[in-house]
Amino acid sequence: MDFDVAIIGGGTAGYTAGVLLGRRGKRVVVIEKENIGGTCVNYGCVPSIFLSELSFLYSRLKEIGDYKGIIISVSLDGSTFFRKRDEIIEYLRSAGEGLIKSSGGEIIRGEAEILGKNELSVNGEKISARNIIIASGSKPNTPSIEGVENAISEDEAVRLDRVPSSMVVIGGGVAGTEIAQIFAKLGSSVTLLSRGKVLKEIEEETRHVLMNGLDFDGVNVVEGVTPKKIKDGKVITDKGEYEGEIIVYATGRMPSIPKGTQKIGIETTRNGIIVNRRLETSIKGIYAIGDVIDKENRVAHLAYMEAIVASLNILGSCEEMDYEGTPQVIYTDPQIGIVGDKRKVEKFVKFPYAANTRAIIRGFREGFSAIGIDKNGTVVYSEIVGDSAEELVNLLALAVRKRLTIRDLAFSIFAHPSLSEVVLNAARDEFDLDVDNYK
Ligand SMILES: Cc1cc2nc3c(=O)[nH]c(=O)nc-3n(C[C@H](O)[C@H](O)[C@H](O)COP(=O)(O)OP(=O)(O)OC[C@H]3O[C@@H](n4cnc5c(N)ncnc54)[C@H](O)[C@@H]3O)c2cc1C
Repeated sequence: MDFDVAIIGGGTAGYTAGVLLGRRGKRVVVIEKENIGGTCVNYGCVPSIFLSELSFLYSRLKEIGDYKGIIISVSLDGSTFFRKRDEIIEYLRSAGEGLIKSSGGEIIRGEAEILGKNELSVNGEKISARNIIIASGSKPNTPSIEGVENAISEDEAVRLDRVPSSMVVIGGGVAGTEIAQIFAKLGSSVTLLSRGKVLKEIEEETRHVLMNGLDFDGVNVVEGVTPKKIKDGKVITDKGEYEGEIIVYATGRMPSIPKGTQKIGIETTRNGIIVNRRLETSIKGIYAIGDVIDKENRVAHLAYMEAIVASLNILGSCEEMDYEGTPQVIYTDPQIGIVGDKRKVEKFVKFPYAANTRAIIRGFREGFSAIGIDKNGTVVYSEIVGDSAEELVNLLALAVRKRLTIRDLAFSIFAHPSLSEVVLNAARDEFDLDVDNYK
C-alpha cells in the first residue's frame, strides 16, 4: 500500500492532521490501534469534562435546592448519567472517523511499527509513504508503589460506570485534583493524597480559593505524604493508612513511542520524541506531534495546533510552532485558567468576582482575575480562579500572545453584564477607571 502521508495514531493530533491533509488532496492513511479520538475523546477531556460539568451542576442544584425562587428536587440516576457520557464519546468517535473518511483518508486498525524513513508495518503488512507523522500520544505513568496493580489509572477513573462509596486518589496534580472533586460531588467519600502541595504551581491566593472549594465538597486533602504500598483497599503511606473502595493513581503521563522509532535513528528523550520548531524529527520527512513529543504541556489544544503546523509544512509551507500564550485550564470548581510566564511579572492587577454584576446575578461570587504585567505594562501572565475561568483565560491568551498592554485591555469595550468584565475591570483598575469595586 502506498500513501502520501501515513499517520500513526488517530487521537486529537493524528485525526486533525489526517483531515487537514486529506482535504488538501493528499493520499492519507491514519493507523489506530484502539479508538479514533485517542485519549481526549475516549479517556481524557471528553469524559472528564462531561463528569465535571454534570457533577458540578448536580451538586449545585442539590445544595441549593431552592435557587432564587426556582424549587428543585434533585437525585442521580447513575446508569443514565454514565450512559449519557458514553453516548457523547461514541458520537465524537464516529464523527472523527466520518471526517477522516469524508476528507478522502483511509483508516487502518492495528499497531504501527516504523521500519524506515518511508516505511511502516501494520498487522504484518507493509505501508510506504512519502511522509510519516508520529501522533501516538501518551499513556498514564504507573507509579512504582508496591501493589499498584490494585489501583486504576486516571484514564480508567473517568470511565468508571458507577459512583464508588469511597475513593483514594494518589496525585495532587491537575488530573488527580479534578477526579477527586468530581467523585466527591457525586457522593463518594474522597481522600486526595499529594506528595507536596496540591497544584503547587499556582499562586497561593488562587490555591486558597481552590482549597475552599475542595473543602466545601468534602474532599479530604492530605499533603506532604508518600504512598508506600497498596493493599486490601488501603493506601499505606508514611503518614498513615487511607481506605478506598477504588484507588486511583494520577501521577503524570509518559510518551507512547511506536516500535522502531529509535531503531531507525529518531532521537528521543524519556519525555518524548525530539522535534525542531517545524515539528520535524531528527529524520527529515518524519514529523511528530501531540503528546508524544518532548515538551512541557500535554494538552489537546497544543495537539490541534501542532497538527496544523506539521500538515502545512508537509504541504510545502515553512511554519514554526510558537507556544507563547498557551492557556492551561484546571476544571475544578471553581475553575482555574492560567496563561503566560510568571517569571516576567513585575506587578499584578486584580479584580474580584464579588464585584462583577453577572457573577452577583448568578450567585457564584468566589474568585478573582489576576493579570501580571511587566515593567512596560505588557500583559505577560494571568491567573483566573472562578466561574467560567476556562473561557475567560482565552481572552488573556490572546493578550499574552499578541503582547497587548494593560492599557490596550483597559480601553477595550466588553459587553455588560458579562463575566469577561472581571478581566476588563482588573485592567481598568490599574488606571483607577473601575468604579464597581470598593476601595
Ligand atoms: C483524564 C484526562 C483529562 C484530560 N483533560 C484535558 C482537557 O480538559 N483539555 C486538554 O486540552 N487536554 C486534556 N487532556 C490531555 C489530552 O487528552 C491530550 O493532550 C490529547 O489527547 C493528546 O492528543 P494526541 O493525539 O497527541 O494523543 P492521544 O489522544 O493519546 O492519541 C494517540 C493515539 O495513538 C494511538 N497509538 C499509539 N501508538 C500507536 C501505534 N504504534 N500504532 C497505532 N496507533 C497507536 C493510541 O491508541 C491513541 O488513540 C486530558 C488527559 C487525561 C488523561
